[in-house]
Amino acid sequence: SSARIAGLGTTIFAEMSALAVRTGSINLGQGFPDTDGPASIIDAAADAMRSGRNQYAPGIGVPELRLAIAAHQQRFYGLTIDPDTEVGVTTGATEAIASAILGLVDPGDEVIVLEPYYDSYVAVIQMAGGVRKPVTLRAPDFRLPIDELRAAVSTRTTAILLNTPHNPTGTVLTREELEAVAAVAQEHDLVVISDEVYEHLTFGVPHIPIATLPGMRERTLTISSGGKSFSLTGWKIGWATGPSSLVSATIGVKQFLTYTSGSALQPAIAEALRFDDAYFSSFVTQMQKQRDLLCTGLADLGFEVFVPEGTYFATTDIRPLGFTDGMEFCRALPEVAGVVAIPHQVFYDDAEAGAPLVRWAFCKKPEVIAEALERLKGLL
Ligand code: PMP
Ligand code: GLN
Repeated sequence: SSARIAGLGTTIFAEMSALAVRTGSINLGQGFPDTDGPASIIDAAADAMRSGRNQYAPGIGVPELRLAIAAHQQRFYGLTIDPDTEVGVTTGATEAIASAILGLVDPGDEVIVLEPYYDSYVAVIQMAGGVRKPVTLRAPDFRLPIDELRAAVSTRTTAILLNTPHNPTGTVLTREELEAVAAVAQEHDLVVISDEVYEHLTFGVPHIPIATLPGMRERTLTISSGGKSFSLTGWKIGWATGPSSLVSATIGVKQFLTYTSGSALQPAIAEALRFDDAYFSSFVTQMQKQRDLLCTGLADLGFEVFVPEGTYFATTDIRPLGFTDGMEFCRALPEVAGVVAIPHQVFYDDAEAGAPLVRWAFCKKPEVIAEALERLKGLL
């Protein structure tokens, strides 16, 4: 295999989901809901297939989805974007991130990432020949250390890869934190790539796209997808929005990775983006109940729990229970308790920093979360 993928191995999500299947465990590891998204959207996709939308879509995405993405940005964030030049549809946010990095980062360029980081960031920065510069969000608050962000910038820095709401910590960056990032980006003329796939999953705090801050629209590529917002993670319909120069660099790569993305799924996601406010608020209410159920349960078991402001993941410190190594803990847990979780340490350059932290997904039915807690009770 090529040097480009040296050391990347198999993603933790594949490893842990395979372990869950093999051991018949409850999978609170990989983040995917155990309840499918709205039936009307699934019907819309089936209708699109039956009405003949089964051949290649346009490379930048079908017009009604690009329009719906622009309308959604306007409705929720007041951002006006041109659906013809400032939106590109991709195969999940994952492809948007990969295409953006490959399209914007040259060998030797440095990219600042929040650590713990989503694992695909590391892989695609490496594939681009770039160098990642982690800025660590630390327990118990997982706030952005602004001074460390400033210190991470060098003359080689080209981009800041942001993620809010942040996986795996659940941090939702505040306006003040985003203003600090914006100041750094403007001062050093950096591009911001902002992964906002959990934009509709915040609990009592607002999600603020950094593109809405003064001076940021012109230097921000915002990435999202339908997977989390509509509980359709397997559909892999994502998008990038922003100034046409950044979108076209992204789509310029995407065209040679997959050419186009799921033609029948795109009009269905367009419909979903137009759901009324009641959809989005009841989605959050349900997820918040599940968050509280899981977090209370884990705290009762003795874990130190860091209750997330966003995403559908909760982080715990396992040391109060006498464990120190999250990787060992997560590899043993399926066999001994029939539950799967994700060790933080794979998301850090500094494995020590994440060693005692373990992530649990709560995008699962309340009875499934309750059963997982019951199984853990037997163990601990
Ligand atoms: N970014 C983050 C932070 C994620 O958690 C995920 C979820 N897998 C993705 C990107 C990928 O999203 P998609 O499934 O749309 O590719
Ligand atoms: N975003 C999800 C998670 O963090 C799924 C990851 C994946 O399968 N690549 O669990």
